[in-house]
Amino acid sequence: MMKRSPRHAVVHKASCVACGTCVDVCPRGAMRIHAGSFAEVNEDLCVGCETCARECPASAITVEVRA
Ligand code: SF4
Ligand code: SF4
Repeated sequence: MMKRSPRHAVVHKASCVACGTCVDVCPRGAMRIHAGSFAEVNEDLCVGCETCARECPASAITVEVRA
């Protein structure tokens, strides 16, 4: 099994407006829109590159270090 990255994106659902920008910009295909209402991270694919966090118009994503 591939080792997960220690850094990963966290979506703050209450702020997410489901615009799909993070889905479009993620180089790893790690984001999807869940039930049309908020973005969801696949932690097995996310490498914590921060591209989505930079591009999110709602500032709904932070990149955190896994505990
Ligand atoms: S870019 Fe931000 S607001 Fe848009 S779907 Fe992703 S987390 Fe939600
Ligand atoms: S941090 Fe990078 S790899 Fe992870 S979801 Fe955001 S854009 Fe994709």
